[in-house]
Amino acid sequence: MAEITLKGASMTYPNGTKALTSVDLTVRDHEFLVLLGPSGCGKSTLLRLVAGLEKPTEGEVLFDGKVVNDLEPLKRNVAMVFQSFALYPHLNVYKNMAFPLKSMKLKPEEIQRRVEEAAKILDIEHVLNRRPRVLSGGQRQRVALGRAMVREPVVFLLDEPLSNLDVKMRLELRDQIVSLHKRLGTTFLYVTHDQAEAMQLGDRLAVMDTGRIVQIGSPQEIYDHPNSLYVADFIGAPKMNFFAALLRADGPNWSVRLLGREMPLPPERIDQDAALAPGMRVVVGVRPEDFALSRREDAYAAAVGQVMPMGATQHVEAYVGNQRFLVSLNSHTPVCEGDTLRLEVDPHTVHLFAAEGGQNLLLPPRKGGKA
Ligand code: ADP
Repeated sequence: MAEITLKGASMTYPNGTKALTSVDLTVRDHEFLVLLGPSGCGKSTLLRLVAGLEKPTEGEVLFDGKVVNDLEPLKRNVAMVFQSFALYPHLNVYKNMAFPLKSMKLKPEEIQRRVEEAAKILDIEHVLNRRPRVLSGGQRQRVALGRAMVREPVVFLLDEPLSNLDVKMRLELRDQIVSLHKRLGTTFLYVTHDQAEAMQLGDRLAVMDTGRIVQIGSPQEIYDHPNSLYVADFIGAPKMNFFAALLRADGPNWSVRLLGREMPLPPERIDQDAALAPGMRVVVGVRPEDFALSRREDAYAAAVGQVMPMGATQHVEAYVGNQRFLVSLNSHTPVCEGDTLRLEVDPHTVHLFAAEGGQNLLLPPRKGGKA
């Protein structure tokens, strides 16, 4: 078990590609931290720096406060699990799992103890004698996890380990990885580009954009208060709706025009340090579930386009004038294409971003909504 720290870590590959720019990150001991970002943003490179497969071109990697830049991968005692299963085809499952232990020169009884214990936890005891090719994708990936586990590493590094699996298997193994982490209590650093997976797995998420970590926090903190348009656009399915607007000031009170109506911004959410200016171009963000049916006189009248049933909820395409947006409603709400819905938005739930620069201009909403 270890605390992993990157201090000002940058990585430029020999061909000149700058994959990481001055990354500061601490993965706490026992923590499950997920690196989330689109393909090519530097997630795998960051993992490779921790594993010791690459050396940062600037900055430091520390394990429990000690710089490990020059420590070779084997001596770091990290385990990596990749997207592809990378098992030895000619060895059975038992031998695949025992392989790393043999090179550690452990006694045969200790090897047997560790392999059998890992196989039990991962529910693959009954396939220990089989070769990888006769296993399902999910079983193969559990063998790969088992092979990582038996080394009793100080940190698990998982690089998109579920992306080759079908949906059912992926969900099953997701749950299993969560319970594995609980059970082992080891530090986990997990890479994915799938925001739903990241939300479910991580104690904390670090959202990346082109070689930088742009926001770090619990999944709920990031969902409730993305610090930029980029993060807001990345987190949440269906996506947050965005509306271009101009900021208005009336004395100390600020407002925006949303879908043709004036919306006052709650004073307790105004950040005195944000450089707000009357007439400033902003983007108002409203999550689909933050539109509610309304009986208010001043409700928005929205024409209904397509209705997409999702099981517990339904995604409803709505139009006010030419402005299209998505609303998420309980599936019991009767709604059909061509209807008119009356909707309202609680201003305590909205997000406000600078059109230029994209930063979130408001303070986080208070838990429980209205002040
Ligand atoms: P991610 O894991 O988020 O998809 P990567 O860390 O794999 O991102 O890649 C980050 C950037 O570095 C990309 O532009 C990628 O093309 C580049 N890159 C990755 N590995 C190498 C390498 N060995 N040599 C040169 N460029 C690389």
